[in-house]
Amino acid sequence: MTTLQDVFRQSVQKYPNKEALVDMRLNKRWTFQEWDKEANQLAQAFKEAGVQKGDRVSTVLYNTSEFVMTFVACIKLGAIFNPINFRLTEKEIEFILADASPKIVVFEKAVRSEVQPLIEHFPQTQFWYIDEPLPNGVVSYYQKLQSTSSEVVKEILTENDDYAIMYTSGTTGKPKGVVHSHRDMVDQSTIMIGAQQLTSQDRGLSAAPLFHCAEMHCVFIPRLHIGATSIIVHHFDPEVVMKTIQSERVNSCFLAPTMWSMLVEEKNKMKMELPSLEKGLYGGAPMAPALVKQVYETLNIKLFQAYGMTEMGPAITVLFDDEQLEKAGSAGKPLINHEIRVIQPDATDPEQVVPVGEQGEVIVRGPSMMSSYYRRPEATKEVLRDGWYFTGDVGYTDEDGYLWVNDRIKDMIVSGGENIYSREVEDTLFDHPEVLDVAVIGEPDEKWGERVVAFVVLKNSSVTEEELDDFCKKSNRLANYKRPRRYEFVNELPRNASGKLQKFKLREQMKSI
Ligand code: ATP
Ligand code: MG
Repeated sequence: MTTLQDVFRQSVQKYPNKEALVDMRLNKRWTFQEWDKEANQLAQAFKEAGVQKGDRVSTVLYNTSEFVMTFVACIKLGAIFNPINFRLTEKEIEFILADASPKIVVFEKAVRSEVQPLIEHFPQTQFWYIDEPLPNGVVSYYQKLQSTSSEVVKEILTENDDYAIMYTSGTTGKPKGVVHSHRDMVDQSTIMIGAQQLTSQDRGLSAAPLFHCAEMHCVFIPRLHIGATSIIVHHFDPEVVMKTIQSERVNSCFLAPTMWSMLVEEKNKMKMELPSLEKGLYGGAPMAPALVKQVYETLNIKLFQAYGMTEMGPAITVLFDDEQLEKAGSAGKPLINHEIRVIQPDATDPEQVVPVGEQGEVIVRGPSMMSSYYRRPEATKEVLRDGWYFTGDVGYTDEDGYLWVNDRIKDMIVSGGENIYSREVEDTLFDHPEVLDVAVIGEPDEKWGERVVAFVVLKNSSVTEEELDDFCKKSNRLANYKRPRRYEFVNELPRNASGKLQKFKLREQMKSI
């Protein structure tokens, strides 16, 4: 089994009448056989619209069954699936469409005001719409679907054929299209099934965005692969998530750290029990040890963490449930068939490894590593060297082989010649019981080069700057130069749809203060 076509076909053959997919928005359910039939219809419709093997099909969709139908239709046709972040602005979507030049874009009401103005800019692209009434210049997804047969569509594919172009989150610059092959995904999925011990009995919730590889590749495809059931909610809303877990007897779910934090708050507020929920995955961004503890105390589930990036498929390391408390804050150890190294921060040679315990750039390799950035040979050469991917993350490994990721190189603060990793300061402040969210960045300082500024969201607005500074002092965890010199109290922090802090926005905000 080397392509996602094989993976899907096998689940249809093994579990034809088992519930495979539940879309809470449409209140609709599909068995594997029904999913197969509808995806065949959609693949026929795409084919009749001119989509051929190798053509791109993009989506600007929230978590919807139409998203996953498009995904399966693409793998049947050998078309390249290109899910686009539904939270992007019109200009950002335009950038990706110009880069990926898809034949078809499937979109919905919730993103209409961003997508519709772009239609006239892309005369070669068809825009398919899943809602009603139809805006001008678009094609009805459902009319197309109903007018075709469900005759089996199956292009011949090999493991090296491309399966998707997924754009990075654009946290540190413009998003880059990451090209992954079918083989990359079959490997990532197989490894994630093993790591999470998924079985066909699992009922997993997709509430984190499916367009992002963390949800799609770490849990959604593995569930499809093993014959488990996926329940999808349109977007993350803590109350909807709680009610869905309860009514659908969900036993597992992946959420970004900020979503876990909101779920904990909601559970405390609603006083609702979630007896079916057994395991949770988190990743995509660091999670403060204090929050990990809160999740355990409030939800009483098994937790584990994955660290990775779009370029790697994404997962590289995992921290298992029984390691969470002893190694709280660590990203864990490499998954099977994966390897990590920490090298000199400015080195280009993967052999320049630093001693255990020393900080440096994390470089990684594994079977699901991207082949290239789409149409960006120069950017590809910068990050893929001698078979390793240079992550741009700073971290170290400890004497037990655990990886600790402290910052992005681009976010590191240098004050008086000393490196400050924002994560250390953020995790310390997170321990304060009244701190809900926190982000630390550097601001220019004449004497020291940079100094530390903390943006803080408080649960209770009576806490003062002096109190937080005192807390940092008493924590005994932060050297004097690492303590924030200034605090900004804000109502929320800029985070993207996958929960990542957008520190560039805070830097812009600071300039205007
Ligand atoms: P861009 O590359 O466009 O700037 P991005 O790096 O945010 O965007 P992703 O591929 O979505 O795009 O994110 C990968 C990054 O997220 C990693 O390099 C790392 O910095 C961070 N990350 C992912 N998982 C974890 C984790 N478990 N702990 C800490 N950081 C994490
Ligand atoms: Mg990145």
